Amino acid sequence: METILLLAHTEPDGTLAKPALECLTAALALGGPLTIGLVGARVEAAASQIAGCGAARFLAVTGEAFAQPRYATDTAAAEALCRTAGSSIVVAPSTSRWARALPGVAYRLGGRVDTHATSLAAENGAPAVTRWFYRQRMEAVLSRRERPWVILLDSGCVAPWSGPAGTASVEPVAVAVPETRTTVTGVRAPKADEQTIRPDAKLLFVAGAGWTKKQSDGAVHAAEAETLILGFLRAAQASLGGSKSLVDLSGEGEAVLRFMTHLNQVGQTGSTPRHPKGLSTCCHGEEPHVVGWRFVNQRRAINLDANCGWARGKADVLYVADAFEVMRHVNRLLRA
Ligand SMILES: Cc1cc2nc3c(=O)[nH]c(=O)nc-3n(C[C@H](O)[C@H](O)[C@H](O)COP(=O)(O)OP(=O)(O)OC[C@H]3O[C@@H](n4cnc5c(N)ncnc54)[C@H](O)[C@@H]3O)c2cc1C
Repeated sequence: METILLLAHTEPDGTLAKPALECLTAALALGGPLTIGLVGARVEAAASQIAGCGAARFLAVTGEAFAQPRYATDTAAAEALCRTAGSSIVVAPSTSRWARALPGVAYRLGGRVDTHATSLAAENGAPAVTRWFYRQRMEAVLSRRERPWVILLDSGCVAPWSGPAGTASVEPVAVAVPETRTTVTGVRAPKADEQTIRPDAKLLFVAGAGWTKKQSDGAVHAAEAETLILGFLRAAQASLGGSKSLVDLSGEGEAVLRFMTHLNQVGQTGSTPRHPKGLSTCCHGEEPHVVGWRFVNQRRAINLDANCGWARGKADVLYVADAFEVMRHVNRLLRA
């Protein structure tokens, strides 16, 4: 029988975030004996949070050196936890921290790693991983003979584990702090009101280059476009996506939508966000863009052009309308 290790790092407040809890659901569903491996400055809060999950063992690497994401310390901690647990399957959330460190850990252990898994299931008695290839155009189900098999699970694919908190007995795993060349001096993050990427939002709002084009009066209305889009995002707490044409314009320093960056780009060379609903505005709906909508369940678009890409089977509903007019009205309704 496969034995399973869930690797999780704590957040700055010492608890586990949603991606780790989702991973716990996936690890439990595999059915083998489960060990939890925790990494962080302190892990008591995290261990208590999931004490009721039914894991056979809780292991932890702790200390200030393991508080911050850093390749040298993260790999040292994860390797020690994997060796102590001796599990054949290692499951971890695909956070930027683990995505950077765990492929190296798999190599050190003589195992294998698969990234961007979207589901994990036992098939014919062996674990199988589902993963998308070629920018979400093809889906494959993989299994491997090599062990340990390290699997990084993408966030948003399974429900986060929820259960009773309690007290877990945690076995410390000693790790000599490796020589580090990286010092984390702080975090630079946008101000809270400028945060436009919200992975947990119910709605993805996509802005296309049309917002920056000449409108029926022959003029460009970039300032109003900014006000309308930001007004909607704040009122609906939606996440903001952009088409490549629009983010490229912003990157070139043109006076367009100042809050739009390449991080917002959705599509073949951008991101593939997961949201229950999506609303595309002033975006043509070309295939390289729409391929990023793979995991958006209900799709709507507003475009002046009744023959745009969205009209060709890519959206559930297309409003053939002026997005300025529609969003002005929607914002009025949201304020009322
Ligand atoms: C290899 C490759 C990779 C690519 N990767 C990506 C990618 O990751 N993401 C991506 O987005 N694109 C990608 N592209 C580019 C993609 O093919 C399109 O060029 C791009 O998506 C077009 O952006 P757009 O629809 O915003 O702009 P446009 O094509 O300029 O469309 C603007 C739309 O706005 C509409 N419009 C204008 N005014 C209004 C109004 N008032 N109300 C309503 N509608 C209005 C117009 O009718 C038009 O349909 C890629 C292309 C290649 C070749």
